[in-house]
Amino acid sequence: MQGAMQSHPLLISNLLVHAERHHGDQEVVSRRVEGDLHRQTFRDLAQRSRQMAQAMQALGVGFGQRVGTLAWNGYRHMELYYAVSGLGAVLHTLNPRLHADQLVWIADHAEDEVLCFDLTFLPLVEAVANRVKTVKHFVVMTDRAHMPVTDKIPNLLCYEDLLAAQDGRLSWPSFDENTASSLCYTSGTTGHPKGVLYSHRSTVLHSYAAALPDGLQCSAADTVLPVVPMFHVNAWGLPYVACMVGAKLVFPGPFLDGKSLHELFEAEGVTLSAGVPTVWQGLLAYAEANGLHFSTMRRTIIGGSACPPAMMSAFQDRYQVAVLHAWGMTEISPLGTACALKSKHLALGPAERMQVQAKQGRAVFGVDMKIVGEDGAELPWDGQTSGELLVRGPWIVGRYFKGESSPLVDGWFPTGDVATIDADGYMQITDRSKDVIKSGGEWIGSIDLENIAMAHPAVAAAACIAARHAKWDERPLLVVVRKADVALTREELLAFYDGKIAKWWTPDDVVFVDQLPLGATGKVLKHRLRDQYADHLLAAA
Ligand code: ADP
Repeated sequence: MQGAMQSHPLLISNLLVHAERHHGDQEVVSRRVEGDLHRQTFRDLAQRSRQMAQAMQALGVGFGQRVGTLAWNGYRHMELYYAVSGLGAVLHTLNPRLHADQLVWIADHAEDEVLCFDLTFLPLVEAVANRVKTVKHFVVMTDRAHMPVTDKIPNLLCYEDLLAAQDGRLSWPSFDENTASSLCYTSGTTGHPKGVLYSHRSTVLHSYAAALPDGLQCSAADTVLPVVPMFHVNAWGLPYVACMVGAKLVFPGPFLDGKSLHELFEAEGVTLSAGVPTVWQGLLAYAEANGLHFSTMRRTIIGGSACPPAMMSAFQDRYQVAVLHAWGMTEISPLGTACALKSKHLALGPAERMQVQAKQGRAVFGVDMKIVGEDGAELPWDGQTSGELLVRGPWIVGRYFKGESSPLVDGWFPTGDVATIDADGYMQITDRSKDVIKSGGEWIGSIDLENIAMAHPAVAAAACIAARHAKWDERPLLVVVRKADVALTREELLAFYDGKIAKWWTPDDVVFVDQLPLGATGKVLKHRLRDQYADHLLAAA
């Protein structure tokens, strides 16, 4: 017997309709590329999104067609999120930090029909405009007064002009909730990038889970500033979650340095933020150097790569900002686990509590996970045994866009991460499978070694890689950026490991560098370091 309840498709446009009706006066504040601060309400957002949807229809964008964006976090980008997906077309967020050749490859693969971009990216678009095969219209996300003059881009259109030509009288169409809504390519550190094609259903379900108290913990009483870019896995879903719960949104545009972020946090009363560790490093350094505090910030979500415990305690102990460590990936929309404490942890002392918080956390409902050994057999949840992490659930990739074969193994998606899971269900990433260090056949977790280095007061950044070794095949090599104006020797840093790990895990050597190579999403490019330093220990021997 079937249930007797109404059946409504889960559509992204419903989030916007809800936000307009129930939180119409809630604000969306954006620092614009043009330099000033822009304010609008959810009511404006809804109206302008409908106008933009009409404008897209006028450009000939139809159901299922792709619209690309090259844009920072801002209100116009948010309008495109809703306008394009709301019509049943597909929003394809491109990562502007990628190389031009890669952008062309991705735009061609996605068959983008329209490309909308912020003024900042004019030179980039000029460089690719004649090379992308399917783009018919280029839209600058600005007003008439700021329109650039260029002869390198055909059919250059002005966002505000397109919008002004429409009245916004549009009813969002209803369609199957499994319709594609947005497309995001993995950064492709190995091989070609792969497209992950989200659906309306996966996006709305992911938003429910993300908003939960043990998820990203977002409510109508929050002011959310996503530092994580809208071109990287939909800013971890926050543009959708904010409409679902009615939270005020603050967009930083291109201004992601410590000073700009701190000013915006304070001026707009930001309570919740989210980003990768490298961004927070800049913010913490700025706050420390200037003796500043955070008067409204209560929580920050840190993920994308492991959050060093030293960073967690800086936020929590020095600034009273709670850190929520989270793990996910493009293929998981991205939220997989979040490290909220259970009631049994509340009585723990600070050091033991930190041990729990350093983990990547528990699966949110909707994500099922397991770890397996090399033979594919499931491994125990004892917090010790590590194996490859596999996940499944309604917002996890089933196949890649235009992919011929399924990436799944018996219905599970292999993440490429190596992890342990403890008896309470807390997962901890020890490595990515391509980054593990195999010394004499035994695995050494590079993230542990990095976290210890990062806890040294003279270390600004650290990465640990596998270097070839004559006897042990591979041994850990530490690549370190020192803090400005402090002395630190190899011997001092290696002595810092004493008593913190098994002796044989201690890195064999330390290389000091001025900076670490970062990829398009702010993560350390370890393969670059391996290319450069793989033979370092052989040479030293
Ligand atoms: P890529 O970096 O391959 O482009 P994503 O941006 O989707 O892909 O990143 C996903 C990967 O980032 C995960 O598989 C994992 O290795 C890493 N990652 C994400 N969050 C964390 C975290 N909290 N701790 C450690 N690693 C993380």
